[in-house]
Amino acid sequence: MYPRVTIDTKKLEHNTKIIADACAGHGIEIMGVTKSFCAVPGAAEAMIRGGVKFLADSRVKNLMKVKDLDVKKVLLRLPMKSQAEDVVKYADISLNSEIETIEVLGQEAIKQGKTHNIVLMTDLGDLREGFLPKDVDSAVEKILKIEGIKLYGLGVNLTCYGGVVPDDKNLGQLCDIAGHIEKKFDVKLEMITGGNSSSFYLLDKGTMPDKVNNLRMGEIIVLGRETAYGDAIEGTYDDAFKLQAEIVEVKTKGSVPIGEIGMDAFGNTPTFEDKGMIVRAIAAVGRQDVDPDNLTPLDEGIEILGSSSDHLLMNISASKMDYKVGDIVEFKLDYGSLLSLTTSEYIEKVCE
Ligand SMILES: *Cc1c(COP(=O)(O)O)cnc(C)c1O
Repeated sequence: MYPRVTIDTKKLEHNTKIIADACAGHGIEIMGVTKSFCAVPGAAEAMIRGGVKFLADSRVKNLMKVKDLDVKKVLLRLPMKSQAEDVVKYADISLNSEIETIEVLGQEAIKQGKTHNIVLMTDLGDLREGFLPKDVDSAVEKILKIEGIKLYGLGVNLTCYGGVVPDDKNLGQLCDIAGHIEKKFDVKLEMITGGNSSSFYLLDKGTMPDKVNNLRMGEIIVLGRETAYGDAIEGTYDDAFKLQAEIVEVKTKGSVPIGEIGMDAFGNTPTFEDKGMIVRAIAAVGRQDVDPDNLTPLDEGIEILGSSSDHLLMNISASKMDYKVGDIVEFKLDYGSLLSLTTSEYIEKVCE
């Protein structure tokens, strides 16, 4: 069935192993972050074979899909109070920054006869989630009194909203806060989780603070690219995930529409470059599934012209291939296209 996203689980496992081994060399365990591919279980399993110690996702619905896989599950997005029951049920650990939510999680944990682990998030400048450093002490004091809850660790998220790059300063601050908490409250924080794929470069640089013992890795595993500077990671694949779409029309036509140009299907007024007659192909996939700007054809002779809700238009004049109706074209993906394609119910997800 087409269109489909193919997942090369061997490549994914390989990528995971490279990242997990590099981190293990610095005493760091990793969470495999599954949200960019909606936690397709076959892909999550490849991450486990590659060496992740946890599976982590922003959405409880995705954690439900992997509930039977034998590693700890982590909820990355701050829990909604209204979903406390499912959070406690499907996540062993959740990242938190609101006392009132943690209280509800505690009540729910008691109800389910469990202890729920929380990682307290600090905001060290990126201005997404977390307590400001000055407010961490009073938060910890309250959390330690909440029944059903274990303060499992301390964390930070960077390079997400504000684009702040992790360094020895902000991660050093995370470790200082952790050390201070452990001393002041006489507790052991099992997990100091120092960010996402953007923290990886610090390992090579040799400036990852020692106390960081966990990283939450998504994009770097899935696309083989770190996210502080966008560098490819040596030895990893960038094409473990691909889109395959089927051609439904091939015709030689003009490159500029004929007639008065009004609005396109999305209310924009399009402009066209006149390239004379070209060979045009239409593939059956559209904006409802993916933004065409986030696709890269594997055949360099294919130029993406644009798309409407259900049709992807391509100029195939420069291709060496003699495409016919029914042929399959393949595309490499970026984070945005992987996310939207795997979210679309019209796209098959196939593990190979
Ligand atoms: C998405 C997310 C990650 C993973 O980010 P990548 O850049 O894909 O590695 C880590 N932590 C949190 C809290 C997240 O929301």
